[in-house]
This record gives sequence, C-alpha cells and structure tokens, in this order.
Amino acid sequence: MKALVYHGAGLRSWEEKPDPEIQDSTDAIVRIDSATICGTDLHILKGDVPEVQPGTVLGHEAVGTVVETGEAVTTLEPGDRVLVSCITSCGRCPFCKEGRYGLCTGGGGWIFGHLIDGLQAEYARVPFADTSVYKVPEELTDEQVLFLADILPTAYEVGVLNGGVCPGDTIAIVGAGPIGLATVLTAKLYTPGRIIAIDIADSRLEKARELGADVTINSGDDDPLERVMELTAGLGVDVAVEAVGVPETFELCADLIRPGGRVANVGVHGHPATLHLEKLWIRDVTITTGLVDTVSTPRLLKLIAEGRLDATPFATHRFPLEETMAAYDTFAAAAETEALKVVLEAAPVTEERPEMEVALAGSG
Ligand SMILES: [Zn+2]
Ligand SMILES: [Zn+2]
Repeated sequence: MKALVYHGAGLRSWEEKPDPEIQDSTDAIVRIDSATICGTDLHILKGDVPEVQPGTVLGHEAVGTVVETGEAVTTLEPGDRVLVSCITSCGRCPFCKEGRYGLCTGGGGWIFGHLIDGLQAEYARVPFADTSVYKVPEELTDEQVLFLADILPTAYEVGVLNGGVCPGDTIAIVGAGPIGLATVLTAKLYTPGRIIAIDIADSRLEKARELGADVTINSGDDDPLERVMELTAGLGVDVAVEAVGVPETFELCADLIRPGGRVANVGVHGHPATLHLEKLWIRDVTITTGLVDTVSTPRLLKLIAEGRLDATPFATHRFPLEETMAAYDTFAAAAETEALKVVLEAAPVTEERPEMEVALAGSG
C-alpha cells in the first residue's frame, strides 16, 4: 500500500509500505476512504513530538471501510463504514471505564500516527476496534463525519464542556483556527449570550462570523483586552477558551476572564506560560486543561445525523489520497491558502463485487 511516512524533523514522503495485518485478535483492518491532516501532524514534522519514530505513518483522523477483523471482534464486519477517531479505547482500563479514553493505560489513547502507524494511508490496522470506532449512518457522507475524528470532540469536550458554557454566557475564543472555529460551532449548542472570536487573520474571523461568532476582534489591529472590557462593562467574559497554544494567548485568556469565570485551555503548548496567581488568587477563577476523550463522539454524531450540527464548512480543500504530499503543502501554508481542513479522498472502490459473483454463480 501507499502511505504518508514521517522520516524525522522536516521529512515526509508518500511511499510504499507493507499492507497492515491483524496482530491482535481485537484488531480490524480498515481501508481508508477519507482522511485529513491536523495541526498536530505539522508539530510532529517540526520535531516537536519526539515519541514519533521515523518510519511511522502519520494521521489520526479518517473514515474508512472495514476489510478484515480479528477473531475477538464481535460488533464489526467487513463492509462496515466506520469513523476512525484520534483516540483509541482499550475499553478495559480504569480510565476507559470512566470514559476518559484519552488517558487510556491499556494500550489506547492517542496512538495513531504517534505510537503506531496512522491513517494517512490506503489501509490501517485499528487496535481495539470494537471499543474505538464508530459506525457511520448510511445517509451521511464521509465529509459530514470526518471532522468528528478530532476537532469537533476536542473543541466540544476540552473547550465548551470543560469551560462549563451555559445559556447566556459571554464567551471569548482566542484563536480562530479549526479548533477555535469548532469551539464557536459547538458552543452554540448551549445558546450563549455572545461569542467573541479573537485572531490575527481577517479571513479566519470572517469564517468565525459565518459559523456564529457575534463579535470578532483582530488582535493585530485592536487591543483585545481593552475591547473585551468595553463589551462586558469592565467585568470580563464568563468563559475564555484558549485555542492557539502559545504563552501570550493563554495569558490573554487569564486577563479576559471575569471573577468566578472559567478558562478552558485547548491549545497544545510547547513553552511555559506565566500564571499570574498574584492577580488570580482572589478571583475564584477555574482553569482547565485536557486532551480529548472522544466520549462525546456518539452525541455529536447524532446531532450531525439530525441536521443540528454541520461541520462541512471546515473542508476548504480536497485532494486525491495519492496527492497527500501536495495537501500537506497547502495545509502548512494556511496563512496564504486559507486552508482550514484538507480532505484526502481515496478513489472509490468499484472492482470488488463478491456478492454479485456468488449470486451469478448460483443462478448459473
Ligand atoms: Zn488532530
Ligand atoms: Zn483503556
């Protein structure tokens, strides 16, 4: 098969790899139909995630079709269309039993394109298949569910739920990249009073307004702290969501928050940030961090199936799977290309018609 392989900092190639095989009885092999690239993949390529070994296939977000199952897999069979999520659940460890799959100690957690071969490939081995993949309702397209593999549950669980967004709340979302925009989308499920999106790119702020932000602030042109204080009568916001991952934006969130408010950090940080406890200690502020558990994926899938949630506006660019290298170039140059999520589409499979052959043989 062909796959996108990491070869150390700055190096990637689309190359031939052996087809994955069942290794454990709980595995499934999935043919990848649609996949996407994540900001985390770019971090890996910068060398920021040293656990990723050269030779690893990247990618942790895909929709595919089961082609083979290990003998212990009981809820899936070849032909099933499934969402393969960024988080794997062993289903048996204490964390998985609490629904905290991101913290799985039984061999799951974030493993695709990190600790094992990932999903930007023609085929992938999916461990703990019964407890880790989600069957996709027939009426939904790949693109409708693909972003449930990471950005939607991440924004919803680590931003909206950790931030305790309530009806009427004023929310500041710092960073209007895919995660910040997915936070806008999923915060709206709670009917907030006002959503304020802050970013330095006008194109992303425009997208934030399209998805439901009420006020946008370009922090390159305006002082976001001053503007937010004006908008909230000097009090600050109820919930601030950090969706960038640099010290300045985290510190901004701590400044934007009202007494008794909540800062939900979603950003992936590579450097220490300053926590101004000397200002915060008396303000009853709650700060949360987290990796997604994907425990909300079935709920979000239901909302998509019922037409209450539409993540398709995130798909700004589409490439055939074999052009994954070009897709990376487009995604990495998001400032120029205005890419949010690039969709990698495998060519449709048409030659496999085993049932038809059996039927013809029978009738003959
Ligand atoms: Zn991701
Ligand atoms: Zn587990």
